[in-house]
Amino acid sequence: MGKIHELSTQVSNQISAGEVIERPASVVKELVENSLDAGASQIRIQVKDGGMSLITVSDNGSGIASDDIPLAFARHATSKIVTSADLFKIGTLGFRGEALASIGAVAKVTMTTSTKDGLGDTAVVEGGEMVKREKTSQPQGTTITVRDLFYNTPARLKYMKSVQTELSHIADIVDRIALGHPDIAFTLVNDTKTLFATVGNKDWRQTIAAIYGNSVAQALLPISGDTLDYQVHGYIAKPEVTRASRNFISLLINGRYIKNYALNKALIEGYGTKLMVGRYPVAVVAIQMDPLLVDVNVHPTKQEVRLSKEEELTDLLTKLVAEQLGTARLVPNALTNL
Ligand code: ADP
Ligand code: MG
Repeated sequence: MGKIHELSTQVSNQISAGEVIERPASVVKELVENSLDAGASQIRIQVKDGGMSLITVSDNGSGIASDDIPLAFARHATSKIVTSADLFKIGTLGFRGEALASIGAVAKVTMTTSTKDGLGDTAVVEGGEMVKREKTSQPQGTTITVRDLFYNTPARLKYMKSVQTELSHIADIVDRIALGHPDIAFTLVNDTKTLFATVGNKDWRQTIAAIYGNSVAQALLPISGDTLDYQVHGYIAKPEVTRASRNFISLLINGRYIKNYALNKALIEGYGTKLMVGRYPVAVVAIQMDPLLVDVNVHPTKQEVRLSKEEELTDLLTKLVAEQLGTARLVPNALTNL
């Protein structure tokens, strides 16, 4: 008899949860991205105790058909891609089919969903097991409530920081997603207090004002431009309005909030000597490109990307910022002569 055996679904889901779901903010990110993929125009997020005891994300998106509910919680089950060719042209935020399986493995999850106003479904998954299914009546859309995150993974639970720290990670991710989607109404509620609400009327300045306040919104300058491969639109704050960290630069690629050091650096470089040492800009920049040029399948959290023509994009970013701020002469010629 050999010693090797396949792991149970529950154990393998817990393993992938370890990668995908690092903390409450990861749950919020995955659920909100699912709501965006479902075409929602309104997304409401409520959390308690920094998301440790409760996270609820409600949307008015497509909803999930009854028959699909068990699959929604199964690993590597997705409605978003089919073939391996699809992996090279991903047009949705999700595609790995891991998030709900992972969350369901390490928390107590209630999903209420309906594909049209009226009859829908409620399903409860705890520690990877579907423990309840029933028909319920609700408007079209999906509400997912996640309770007692990491209740069955004590090592991860111990690693959680203070309520305040976890809440700030949640606010950070929701802020950035909302900043990049002025066409969607977001509401973030901590316990019973609304932290911010955007109206979703496509007015980008108004959206930025709702999140960063009026003083930032009044200091915004538009940037916009393209190369053969990239289109860039966004707002940067005048150098008078700066922050002590890079956390106020939000970059979105094809609607996905991403982390990319080189792009951040390129944007900062456009400010030339106008930024004081240790100060960083406030900026929201949406980049559109052919999905073929970007690989989002780098890490399970999909926040890191690899760009095929990164330099073309970094040069464009620096140039657009420098032109808008009149710093073009302050940055190296190679970057401005594009
Ligand atoms: P992925 O997003 O990578 O497909 P998930 O585990 O996040 O994987 O979700 C599994 C599937 O459940 C999705 O492909 C989608 O069909 C469905 N789903 C999840 N959340 C929602 C939602 N809020 N509205 C509609 N469908 C959803
Ligand atoms: Mg998803």
